[in-house]
Amino acid sequence: MEFLTDMAAKRAELTPDALAFTDHDSGLAYTFSDINVRANQLANRLLENGLSRGDRMAVLCHNHPDFFVLLFAAQKSGVLLVPLNWRQPVAELQQVLHASKSKVLFHDDAFAVAAQGLAANTGLELVPVGANDDGKSALNQYLEGTTPSAPNEAAIKASAPWYLLYTSGTTGLPKAVIQTSGMATANMINYCQATGLSTHETGVNFLPLFHTAGINLPTLPIFLNGGSSTVLRKFDPDVVLDLVNTGKVTAFFGVPAIYQALALANTVASSDFSKVRSLGCGGAPVPKHLLVDFQKRGVTICNGMGMTETGPTVFLMDKGKAADKIGSVGKAQIMTDVRLQSSDGTVINGAGEGEVQFRGPNITPGYMDNKEATLATFTVDGWLKSGDIARRDDDGYYYIVDRIKDMYISGGENVYPAEVEKVLDAHPAILEAVVIGVPDEKWGEVGAAFLVPRPGEEIDTTALPGWCRDHLAPYKIPKTFTVSDDLPRTAAGKVRKNILKDSFLQK
Ligand code: ATP
Repeated sequence: MEFLTDMAAKRAELTPDALAFTDHDSGLAYTFSDINVRANQLANRLLENGLSRGDRMAVLCHNHPDFFVLLFAAQKSGVLLVPLNWRQPVAELQQVLHASKSKVLFHDDAFAVAAQGLAANTGLELVPVGANDDGKSALNQYLEGTTPSAPNEAAIKASAPWYLLYTSGTTGLPKAVIQTSGMATANMINYCQATGLSTHETGVNFLPLFHTAGINLPTLPIFLNGGSSTVLRKFDPDVVLDLVNTGKVTAFFGVPAIYQALALANTVASSDFSKVRSLGCGGAPVPKHLLVDFQKRGVTICNGMGMTETGPTVFLMDKGKAADKIGSVGKAQIMTDVRLQSSDGTVINGAGEGEVQFRGPNITPGYMDNKEATLATFTVDGWLKSGDIARRDDDGYYYIVDRIKDMYISGGENVYPAEVEKVLDAHPAILEAVVIGVPDEKWGEVGAAFLVPRPGEEIDTTALPGWCRDHLAPYKIPKTFTVSDDLPRTAAGKVRKNILKDSFLQK
């Protein structure tokens, strides 16, 4: 289904004066009309400055309502937004900026120095956004003197690339998952259908806006439905519980590490969740005890599963069934077809277990400028291969039971062992490095590295976190390093990661 999308303009027509976003720290507030006018201004400035449809602009900032101005300006102008993961070190950010060919880098004050370093000798234009000391937006200066009406350029079509989310991928090289307005619209339908999200919802946005969950769960659906969101720079359990207790939040979504942190907060026992109608959790396996603990407090958390490639909502538990089907991610929502495929390629009907595959308008058209990765991710008949094993029970409920892709998730962040192994392999004393994800109480999973020394070399494992720090985001650095003379292998010489995992767990 093709249509033109200018979401901010539509919302501003419907409810111009209603509140869309509030910046928690400064109190700065934008109505739907403010968002639309600012996005028009920004789109006009970008086009005046010579950028055009298909060009890229990156953003490196903590959460702030200005992020959504950038996002909607991208939709109006066709200049693709590339949100950067501020947890990544400079070397990784440079890779993404280079791969995306970004021409402008928006940054907030916290990343001013990093941005200057990234822009040195590149021709990248730097533009401040986000919070100023006076509480106003730093973007105001860039918007001065621009036209507040929509640019002549028609907004992008629903199927056109809108923004790009970079993942490291199993090869360790960054690849850009294309996000479209059509995907976001389908995600809204999936999310609203599962949760009954109304037109009067108030959300709190604390997941980082460089991930699909930060943008789409459920901040964008709330915006499209005419509700408002309080934007937090970063997650803070006390602030979130304060918003919960004062009745200022009716819906939010968190990864399991967020709920772990809420469960440990001093004020959780006395917190009153009665105004929060919809609580979603996913992005990583959700420990059953977490769901049960909250259930005992009378708080139902709905487990859901999606991917950056799926917009993201595919599965989401319905609240009424959550207590009966603990551990299930629910059923697939209305915009998404799901099938289970066994390893021999047979499609499984009824109850059973296999790789879960997706099709529908919330699925990405592919990876930007990377035909090889796109071909490898889709089946010949157009289904997205998730790399996850799911079980479907007799009632049609799904459970994510295993992963076949070489990836683990630490605190909601994906880690691709190939990328970590590459950094360790470059160490002069290491002949071979293998990294696996192992269970961790706080982060869900953390990395464990197994290392073979070069002949005649000794590996000083205490120095390895420092070695990794220059090249990898902190959450990617393994927590344990084990040195041995060899590693368990298949007949073909491939390392058997499952044996390493079993031996680690038996320790
Ligand atoms: P974000 O990066 O914004 O957190 P996301 O987690 O939805 O988004 P990805 O980073 O692409 O998306 O990670 C998707 C993978 O996370 C899935 O393929 C699956 O392995 C895992 N996953 C997501 N939700 C669940 C869940 N509820 N239970 C088990 N695994 C999950």
